[in-house]
Amino acid sequence: MDELLREWFDRNGRDLPWRGTRDPYAILVSEIMLQQTQVERVIPRWRAWLERWPTAAALAAATSGEVILAWQGLGYNRRALALHRAAQAIVTNGWPDDLTKLPGVGPYTAAAIRNQAFGEPVLPIDTNVARIQERTGHAFGPDSLQALFDLGATVCLARVPRCDVCPLAAACPSRGRRYEPLRKQSRFEGSFRQRRALTLRLVADAPRQLGELDSEAVAALSRDGLVEEEAGLVRLPV
Ligand code: SF4
Repeated sequence: MDELLREWFDRNGRDLPWRGTRDPYAILVSEIMLQQTQVERVIPRWRAWLERWPTAAALAAATSGEVILAWQGLGYNRRALALHRAAQAIVTNGWPDDLTKLPGVGPYTAAAIRNQAFGEPVLPIDTNVARIQERTGHAFGPDSLQALFDLGATVCLARVPRCDVCPLAAACPSRGRRYEPLRKQSRFEGSFRQRRALTLRLVADAPRQLGELDSEAVAALSRDGLVEEEAGLVRLPV
């Protein structure tokens, strides 16, 4: 199955910019961005980020405020600070053997970096990869990672898989099945997450008086280190 999949990938794989590099820092940036943001939105932001901060050292030298500002629109802003702290840790101590020691890097992201940057034989298993393995009953090898990403994103979809165009169909026991809708993601509209995002956007535009802002959102942002408050003025950290 791995071979069938990789042949399909050679013809149909997406041209994602981070596939052209083995630089662990560039892969780290892509993986942190992709944790909670869709690929299409990440592509231009990843390029811009790497242009501005091409190395971990360049990012480590930025201020937290600059990093938060550059992250705006990607959502889940704590990732920006984690990435910044990870860059500082890499500059100070080098890449750790255990990548989960880096801020913002859990077991999945660590495995993704080990596979893509260091060429280690580990297969990071996200929901797409898990779904394909479960449906096909096949344990794919680490070299199939990029192909699995694309098959999961374009063919072996969660609810209505496109088995008619799937390269694995002849060997897949789940061919033709339909699936119940997955659990919906919690609504963003009207949520506290939205209030936090709006408040951070206002503060990213310019420092604001606390009285102008949603105080609960400011308190939460401040706890996460995303804003600072002094004498009633709320600003990005410097
Ligand atoms: S045949 Fe259908 S269920 Fe099986 S891997 Fe392909 S798309 Fe997924």
